Amino acid sequence: MTPTAADRHDLLVFTHPACADHDPSPGHPEQPARLAAAMAAFKHPALVTCPVEMAPLASREQLCLAHDPDHVERVWHAGESGRRVQLDPDTAVASGSLTAARHAAGAVIAGVDAVLGGRTRQVFCAVRPPGHHASAAQAMGFCQFNSIAIGARHAIHSHGLKRVAIVDFDVHHGNGSQAIFWRDPAVLVVSSHQWPLYPGSGRADETGSHDNIVNLTLPAGTGSAAFRQAWQQQALPRIDAFAPELILVSAGFDGHADDPLASFELSEDDYHWLTGELNALAARHAGGRLVSALEGGYHLAALSACVQAHALALRGLPLSPMQLQAGDPGRG
Ligand SMILES: [Zn+2]
Repeated sequence: MTPTAADRHDLLVFTHPACADHDPSPGHPEQPARLAAAMAAFKHPALVTCPVEMAPLASREQLCLAHDPDHVERVWHAGESGRRVQLDPDTAVASGSLTAARHAAGAVIAGVDAVLGGRTRQVFCAVRPPGHHASAAQAMGFCQFNSIAIGARHAIHSHGLKRVAIVDFDVHHGNGSQAIFWRDPAVLVVSSHQWPLYPGSGRADETGSHDNIVNLTLPAGTGSAAFRQAWQQQALPRIDAFAPELILVSAGFDGHADDPLASFELSEDDYHWLTGELNALAARHAGGRLVSALEGGYHLAALSACVQAHALALRGLPLSPMQLQAGDPGRG
C-alpha cells in the first residue's frame, strides 16, 4: 500500500562540501568519495524534495561537550599545522580534516536544534569523517570527534532533555560513545556489531554504571534473520522501556554484504526495516524526533543504496527499486 501524504515524514538533510576535503591517505577506505555516494541517495524521486542545508562548524566549546579540552586542542593544532599528522595507526589529520570534522559535529548539533526547535521531525547528516570510535581523550578508527556524542550532550545541556538514546548499527562497536556515556544515566547507548572485530570492545557484559549500555554481539556471517531477531528481542524493547525524548542514530552501513571491512551479510532492506522500527519508537516516545548521522560504509554503491533505504524509511516510505545507476553512485 502506498503511504498517503499524511503518513510521510519530513526529513531535513545536513551536509557540507568541505566534508569531502578530509583525505586520510591514498587508498584509505574512509575516502572523500563517500560523501558524494551518500548524497547520491537523495536523487531518488521520493527523496529529491528533502531540503538540504549546509552544516555549520562546531565551535571548540561544543566539541568539548564530549571531549577533553586537551584532545580538542591536539586535533585542532594538528589540523592547522599544514602537515599530515597520524593520530593513531588508521586515523590521520591533514589539510581540510579539521574543517570537515567540525562540520560533521556541527551537522548533528544543527540537527538536534532543528528537531527540538520543531522545524522538522527527522534529520539525516550526510557527513564525514565518522565519529563513534572517538572517546573523550582519543581519536581512533577514522574518527576525530564523536559527533553523535556531542549532539547528545548538546540536547541535554542546551535543551534540557533528560533521556537521549544513541542507537548504533555500524558493524563496528561504538566504543567511543560507550566510554563517553558509561557513567551517564541520561543516555542509553545501544550498539550491534560483529564480534570479534575492531575495536575489540562491546561485549554483552559491558553494561555501564547505570545499566545504560546495551551491546549486541553478532558473529561474522550474520544475515538478515539473525540481525533482525537480535534487535527485536534484545535492543528495541530496551529503547522502548527507556522512553527516550530524542533518538540519535550512528548510522554505519558497513554491515552490508558488499562492504570490504567486515563480514555481515545485510542488505539495504535490513537497514530499511531497522530504521522503520526506530522511527516507530521515536513516534511513540519522542514526538518523532530522530537525528541520524553517517558513520561507516565503505562500498560506494552499497553506501548509496543503504542511505537511500534509511532515508526512505525515515520518511515512512517503502523501499522501492534502486534508482541509481549501478556502479555510478557519485555522478553529478
Ligand atoms: Zn564501522
